[in-house]
Amino acid sequence: MTIFRGAVFDTPESPFAGGRLRASSDEGIVVRDGVIEARGPFTELRGAHRDDDVVALDGGLLLPGFVDTHVHFPQVRVIGGIGLPLLEWLERRALPEEGRLADPAYAARVAADFVSGLVAAGTTAAMVFGSHFQAAVDALFESAATAGLRVTSGLVVSDRNLPAELLSTPERAYEESAGAARRWHGVGRARYAVTPRFSLSSSDALLAACAAVLDDVPGAFFTSHVNENLQEIEQVTRLFQLSTYVATYDRHGLLGRRSVLAHNVHPGDDELATLAARTASIAHCPTSNAALGSGLFPLARHVHQGVRVALGSDVGAGSGFSLLKEGLQAYYTQQQLGADGYALWPAHLLHLATSAGAAALDLPDVGHLSVGQRFDAVWLRPAPGSTYDVALRHASGPDDALGKTFTLGTTADVAGVWIDGEPVRLVDRRRPTG
Ligand SMILES: [Zn+2]
Repeated sequence: MTIFRGAVFDTPESPFAGGRLRASSDEGIVVRDGVIEARGPFTELRGAHRDDDVVALDGGLLLPGFVDTHVHFPQVRVIGGIGLPLLEWLERRALPEEGRLADPAYAARVAADFVSGLVAAGTTAAMVFGSHFQAAVDALFESAATAGLRVTSGLVVSDRNLPAELLSTPERAYEESAGAARRWHGVGRARYAVTPRFSLSSSDALLAACAAVLDDVPGAFFTSHVNENLQEIEQVTRLFQLSTYVATYDRHGLLGRRSVLAHNVHPGDDELATLAARTASIAHCPTSNAALGSGLFPLARHVHQGVRVALGSDVGAGSGFSLLKEGLQAYYTQQQLGADGYALWPAHLLHLATSAGAAALDLPDVGHLSVGQRFDAVWLRPAPGSTYDVALRHASGPDDALGKTFTLGTTADVAGVWIDGEPVRLVDRRRPTG
């Protein structure tokens, strides 16, 4: 058994439903075989566990591991290609790089870059948007298994409106997706997600093939994009002759508790009602939405209509893997909406980055650090004398400390990451990979 000692913050109850930040400045967490067996003020806990090893996390904060609900593995090398809206950005920045993953050796190097970047940012579970190529998807699952990351991912499938090398057919999409699911779904911490790129690149026959894979793989997830950009929405509804984007997925039965759709910046009320009725989740990716000029995410409408929301970094169009940055941008976005914005507090940001993500990915054992949960955690420890350090030492209380963490904390402040109680080895990122 191990006792972790430090300042521990988490959100076991959703702040959107009246929950508050739970914070203790000197907490002990007893972990046995990856599970939290007890927790409480360290000095009280120590009496009952005199012989156990103590991991002293002096300074900074211990938080639940971050859960990223939308992040594209093939795009790690194209982060920062600024200057374009969605459809032009896809054509000129993202899709050419995605085509390069046809080379398995190249894909394996990208997978290693991606997984090491994700865990170094403190992310312990993720819904990863895969690649259009089977060998690349295998490489992603292999890299995630090596790191111990809880990954849900799958083969990206499309059969129209993309460069030829990224296209498949409904029949091939079924065979290859079912094959990848057989190799990875339920293996270790891996789970499979059926992944059409988006409706704009999918025919009804392809979406029907996706539904068939979901039917044939019990417990599989579904992920895609929805309502990101006005031009995209106009093209999708025209292509499908449907009044809404959500309907393109819903009429194939693709939306349910294990469905995660990215963005939803421009939903209709009827679409929100459908998403709520299906208990599907939205991955809100605020830095990507800002970078592509996609729009300001209507969080209040999602909350009021009962649609589940968590955070995603998106990556190619986002600003890196830090969910602290995404939380801060989510806050800025709501501020910019003025009276239409949802009034977010620091506890909301932590919930969105941890427990809300765990709920979206159907991981009931992680997301907060209560007794009985798996110990997935990230320790943020600012460099002495840094502005984050100064701000944290002068915080007026836990909520203030958390607000300062989302504002000033970076991936460079991640001092430790644990999954199932085991430390994740942080790869030396100074060593370049080809
Ligand atoms: Zn995306």
